[in-house]
Amino acid sequence: MTSSTSTSSLWRAWTPITQQAGSLRIVEARGNRVRDAEDNWYLDGVSGVLNASCGHGHPRLIEAANQQLQKLVHYDPMVSSHDPAETLASRLAAILPGELNETCLVNSGSEATEAALRIALQYWHNIGEGRNRVITFEAGYHGTTHLAQQLSGLPFTVSEWSAPFPIDRVALPASPRALRTEEGADTLIALFAQAIEAGPPAAAVMVEPLLGLGGCVVLPNGFLARLRQLCDQHGTLLILDEVFCGFGRTGRMFGFEHEGITPDIVTMSKGISGGYLPLAAVTVTSPIKATFTREPIARGLRYGHTTGGHAVASAVGNAVLDVMADEKLVENSATQGALLLDELRKLESSPLVTDVRGLGLVIAIEADSPESAAAIGNAAVRSGVMVRHERGVIRIAPPLTITADETTEMIQKISDAVDVAA
Ligand code: PLP
Repeated sequence: MTSSTSTSSLWRAWTPITQQAGSLRIVEARGNRVRDAEDNWYLDGVSGVLNASCGHGHPRLIEAANQQLQKLVHYDPMVSSHDPAETLASRLAAILPGELNETCLVNSGSEATEAALRIALQYWHNIGEGRNRVITFEAGYHGTTHLAQQLSGLPFTVSEWSAPFPIDRVALPASPRALRTEEGADTLIALFAQAIEAGPPAAAVMVEPLLGLGGCVVLPNGFLARLRQLCDQHGTLLILDEVFCGFGRTGRMFGFEHEGITPDIVTMSKGISGGYLPLAAVTVTSPIKATFTREPIARGLRYGHTTGGHAVASAVGNAVLDVMADEKLVENSATQGALLLDELRKLESSPLVTDVRGLGLVIAIEADSPESAAAIGNAAVRSGVMVRHERGVIRIAPPLTITADETTEMIQKISDAVDVAA
């Protein structure tokens, strides 16, 4: 079932050195399935790294990339602009609420976090208040560059270096299951209020609408709306990280739409290009951008990369928006996600399963131990459905293009895997 290579010069990140060789090698992907080097096909239950939201080998996305490659690959984003990036920025302004009109394009979710933090901190500098404290979730994940990594308290992100500004992290006070109540929202808000009031005025609160890599923790109803109010009371910027949740993953275009709020800054990646090319974005409100004309040396944002807003990636980003609208992928995410969650919840009767939770096409099966999660996850992969298990949680997040038949197949295979593991 796995394809091994005895030696490899490729150093893959996040993979223990001792496990680099002998790992799965994927050679092809079509629609919602991937094939390994030994010719086994799997139903893609994880959308690659949650980014293949339009499925694999989509002809319209390939065509958009091809056409742009032939016209203009890219050009210096510091001194010039081009149509694909201009169009993508204006389309994001149209689908984002309120005054979220100003987009900076980058290449990865981590870069989007980096840009968001720099914009937020520079904003406070621009208006003559030196706020620099950031508050976030201990179990949040915002990326792996130096600043981004400092925001997370997850064990796998721990680094030897400390943050160049104060960060206060709020730990989850209860299990994900216990949190999904009205009292859960009260407790969480009280903890954020405490964190905000415990120090100098906070520059920003940065959270995900659903804690993705922290275990697919669905936050209690009303929490984000109350967090918005709390930030407003303290003049603190609310940065929402939509890298995991954005572009339909939770059954709405953006995760924050479930609570009808507007953040001050929003970061996006993964689904923005369907994983076809590296692309990410940070969008801020017009009043935030306006302060950058007051920036002392008037150089605007001092953050950016050579390939930021790459023309081919941006062209694919525009095509993703078309495909999502034409194929009604946000709606499909809500429909198939509800079906998956309803059926997989039945697994809570297994002694190995302690919680099944989800929103749209993000589902987590929490097992009674990391060993049980590994046994279930490995059995699912052996049966032909690709899922991820990490720290006791099996993560299921298929492409938004999943069909009703594939959803049924996935439910069957995962349910069988729980039986096999028990
Ligand atoms: N933010 C969130 C919520 C994520 O889930 C991730 C990656 O999984 C990132 C940021 C970092 O994105 P990238 O891996 O593209 O740097």
